[in-house]
Amino acid sequence: MRPFRYVRASDPNAAARAVAANPQAKFLAGGTNLLDLMKEDVERPDELVDLTRLKLSEIKQTNGGVSIGALATNTETANHPLIRQSYPLLTQAIVAGASAQLRNMATNGGNLLQRTRCQYFYDTAMPCNKREPGTGCGAREGLNRMHAIFGWSEKCVATYPGDMANALYALEAAVRVRDAGGRERTIPIGEFHRLPGDTPEKDNNLQHGELIVAIELPKSNFAKSSYYLKVRDRASYAFALVAVAAALELDGGTIRQSRVVLGGVAHKPWRSREAEAALSGRPVSEESFRGAAEAALQDAKPLAHNAYKVELGKRAIVRALLRASKLA
Ligand SMILES: Cc1cc2nc3c(=O)[nH]c(=O)nc-3n(C[C@H](O)[C@H](O)[C@H](O)COP(=O)(O)OP(=O)(O)OC[C@H]3O[C@@H](n4cnc5c(N)ncnc54)[C@H](O)[C@@H]3O)c2cc1C
Ligand code: SF4
Repeated sequence: MRPFRYVRASDPNAAARAVAANPQAKFLAGGTNLLDLMKEDVERPDELVDLTRLKLSEIKQTNGGVSIGALATNTETANHPLIRQSYPLLTQAIVAGASAQLRNMATNGGNLLQRTRCQYFYDTAMPCNKREPGTGCGAREGLNRMHAIFGWSEKCVATYPGDMANALYALEAAVRVRDAGGRERTIPIGEFHRLPGDTPEKDNNLQHGELIVAIELPKSNFAKSSYYLKVRDRASYAFALVAVAAALELDGGTIRQSRVVLGGVAHKPWRSREAEAALSGRPVSEESFRGAAEAALQDAKPLAHNAYKVELGKRAIVRALLRASKLA
């Protein structure tokens, strides 16, 4: 591990100022992703600004919705009564991730910013445009079983590995961030992460030094009929091959509106508006769900080793919708 300076921030504005002032500085929260990447020599910050003493871990009700502090841990968030009652989809997604020990350390802000698990990204002997722009993409013609089937570019075919953000997208959450001047802006979660395009080194649309202070959840009508399904190589402690955040608003036996967000298939959580359009106004039935699954995967572009994700994605969508609607 390379030497670095450690600074403990006294308040959120000081933290944002410290990172903004040094292009090589990074925020440190639970450290469960950043410290691993530093040990692997993938991330090389020369300064870490520790956020863990900041008062940004409150989870509270706001005009009809809930505000979740960026420094609340994944465990605190998943177990909070406000989340369990009104946003069970989020609890399920968080609990589907990592392990209990990791969730006790991991914070919500850090979870959104976790980096891809592409094995070439972690291996500094291999080419990787995300780690070292201009070196090429080892996975494009290499081992790409875990990689994207939507939205990839010739420069990068990696997936975003997180679970929480998929549920947050289905729940139409927004991320509140603060810059070094104390100014705040709110980014809809669907615009927070980005597709790789020609600049895969950028995972998201944050500016350097912008601090996530909270995640805002609006009032939701999806609590009664939602389900997070994660398909993975092992039953726990593994990243998604395909995940589905499914949420339905029902009017008797008819689907009034829905959200279908896929994880493990793109460089960002992938909302399927095609599936949602196919479900709108349809009866609650397995046939409707199969139609939505076909619509969701029709434009998938698999790589050499991940065509299985197309059929897996369809089956996962049907199963998640069956569970959400209590038909199964
Ligand atoms: C073995 C293992 C298995 C895992 N499995 C899963 C899984 O299945 N699903 C899943 O979703 N996740 C999984 N994870 C990832 C885990 O959830 C993340 O490592 C964790 O959520 C990151 O949070 P942290 O607080 O530790 O972030 P850190 O490691 O401290 O930081 C991560 C990044 O976020 C930045 N950052 C942190 N907080 C802020 C903030 N408030 N504002 C701006 N920038 C900030 C840091 O600078 C850093 O770049 C796994 C991790 C491990 C090690
Ligand atoms: S897929 Fe992206 S992260 Fe993986 S090797 Fe290619 S450029 Fe790097």
